[in-house]
Amino acid sequence: MFKALQLTQDGKATLAKVCELDDSALPAGEVLVEVVASSLNYKDGLAVTGKGKIIRDFPMVPGIDFAGKVLESSDDRYQAGDEVVLTGWGVGERHWGGMAQRARVKADWLVPMPKGGDHHKAMMIGTAGLTAMLCVQALEDAGVKPEHGEVLVTGASGGVGSVAVSLLSQLGYEVVASTGRVEENGDMLTALGAKTLMPRSELEAECRPLERSRWAGIVDTVGGQVLATALAQANYGGAAAICGLAGSFALPTTVMPFILRGVSLLGVDSVMCPLEKRQRAWNRILEILPQSYFDQACTSISLEQVHDYADRIVKGQVTGRVLITL
Ligand code: NDP
Repeated sequence: MFKALQLTQDGKATLAKVCELDDSALPAGEVLVEVVASSLNYKDGLAVTGKGKIIRDFPMVPGIDFAGKVLESSDDRYQAGDEVVLTGWGVGERHWGGMAQRARVKADWLVPMPKGGDHHKAMMIGTAGLTAMLCVQALEDAGVKPEHGEVLVTGASGGVGSVAVSLLSQLGYEVVASTGRVEENGDMLTALGAKTLMPRSELEAECRPLERSRWAGIVDTVGGQVLATALAQANYGGAAAICGLAGSFALPTTVMPFILRGVSLLGVDSVMCPLEKRQRAWNRILEILPQSYFDQACTSISLEQVHDYADRIVKGQVTGRVLITL
């Protein structure tokens, strides 16, 4: 028997309950994993509270991330005892996920534990951290270099944002952290490497198609007017790596930044990201992130606390990353 958070549906309401399950309840897959840690992402918050249509088939074990040890494998790439990490691929959405002491998954979805990683560090990074690294790599691939000027990170106190601030600063970029919580999280963001703090309200007002240019690069987790304003302020040849919709899925922009300043809009997805790119990103994050990131920007919770934290992450009240210890 093992402990799991299970979601069921009662009418339109999603109910979350910690229960005991048997291995036979697990879905099909080549690899059985003893999950040591999972994490809470914004998408998990939407799934657990039922505030977003993330899950269609109930009952479901949520958790889009996990790290653990292989117990059994019918795939040659993995043996019992191997340490593995999983993020994305619809796990915790369509296939039972990481908020349980055991998971059975496809071997194709796993990544061997990257060098220098352990279960807890891997989950303090999780989908949010991987996405932050993919955003940074997208800016690098678009030619954005530290000497080109300031890089803006929106939703900076969140999981993706806080890792992006730390990674960019470690790589030598001058980071401007946009946050709705300057007072509450300013010290943490400065400690993570932000050179300047910018209240979110400065980007929330409606803007002209082009504003005074300021950003060599943008990592956006928020969408909506915040992203539209940032794009209007992008430098000639600048680039924006966009991954999120914490503010809005709308993008009320014009073609002007793109056709007059050659700005590039770079979409970033971590869920279906191909294995090779994923592994490269995982290895780089662990090389780049300093120990101080793990000390400063992570909270550890139990399975029983997930519902409360899911509610908070959806309301934008969580800071940094939330690790779930199993
Ligand atoms: P978090 O909730 O940890 O962070 C989001 C941050 O956005 C908050 O901390 C807050 O930062 C800011 N924010 C919250 N509400 C609003 C609002 N109404 N308007 C403007 N800003 C707001 O989430 P994650 O970091 O886990 O994810 C961020 C986004 O990225 C989500 O939309 C998520 O779905 C998406 N995502 C996408 C992935 C992909 O593969 N494309 C993968 C992972 C995440 P502050 O208080 O500092 O302003």
